[in-house]
Amino acid sequence: MMRILITGGAGFIGSHLADALIRQGEDVTIIDDLSTGRMENIAHLTGHPQFHYAIETIGNETVMDRLVSECDIIYHLAAAVGVELIVTRPVEVIERNILGTEAVLKIANRYKKKVFIASTSEIYGKSETVPFREEDDRILGPTTKNRWSYSCSKAIDEFLGLAYWKEKKLPIVIGRFFNTIGPRQTGQYGMVVPRFVRQALLSQPLLVYGDGEQSRCFTSVTDVVRAVIDLMRHPGAVGEIFNIGGSEEITINGLAQRVIAVTQSKSKIRHIPYEEAYESGFEDMRRRVPDISRLAGLTGYRPQIPLDDILSRIAGDLKKNDPEVKESS
Ligand code: UDP
Repeated sequence: MMRILITGGAGFIGSHLADALIRQGEDVTIIDDLSTGRMENIAHLTGHPQFHYAIETIGNETVMDRLVSECDIIYHLAAAVGVELIVTRPVEVIERNILGTEAVLKIANRYKKKVFIASTSEIYGKSETVPFREEDDRILGPTTKNRWSYSCSKAIDEFLGLAYWKEKKLPIVIGRFFNTIGPRQTGQYGMVVPRFVRQALLSQPLLVYGDGEQSRCFTSVTDVVRAVIDLMRHPGAVGEIFNIGGSEEITINGLAQRVIAVTQSKSKIRHIPYEEAYESGFEDMRRRVPDISRLAGLTGYRPQIPLDDILSRIAGDLKKNDPEVKESS
């Protein structure tokens, strides 16, 4: 049995990771300050003998020092994410992402504990050369456009992780997540899929930003969590960066139609200019497609859950747990 520490363990991906590791017999401790994480995500785990939690910020050095010293490996998922959060609370996003990772790596290095660092496809910026490979150049807009601060804050996290590996031989693994979706994800910070499914279930219009011809590859959190665990168990992953995502590309218009079909909703699709949705001068990326050959080559990873299945699981979760959706059905 391994003792695992998950930062951000009450978040969407972190809580699914905790579930999977506990199912596999590991002992899991999470730390989360509930800034974007939610107690509901881990409520079913409280009381489980292999589960422990600290509601605390990763900036609390005393608590983190103890948790890190007591664990075998760390999954560092605590971060501020979501395009809407980035646009409305930029100071928080930049500080939390950079200072949080700095704190985790410093303490991990003290005890030489292996760390998984959660990064993002935002790293590639608005590059139009898809699919994105890990060594590709990054293309970003100016610093006056807020959105790119997220990409830069996560790039600093990656630089720091790679530097700790190179200079201090702290074992790290970096995963770049591409549009991960599943039950428990909230639409509150911008994510499109939980928003569309909720709108469809409430018979409200699905609000598509821009012309809707921008595309993404959505992956089930179940597939993502399996990839992350496999990477941390593979000695060949240390010091490396991996794209983690799906290979089924879909436009946002196409996604809206699929959501309406899967939920058998009467909702219509409505287009809204980016300026209205976010802020004036907002820049979106047109296509975002991962090249997952590095991950597949090392671990045999293949995304297994088709989009329609994930969408119906999300719908099922909202029908059970979202008060407004529950009331309307
Ligand atoms: N989007 C949308 N309606 C929403 C939220 C997002 O049309 O209510 C669009 C958004 O502009 C982007 C895509 O859906 O082009 C994916 O957005 P999300 O924030 O989920 O992920 P990311 O932009 O980071 O890929």
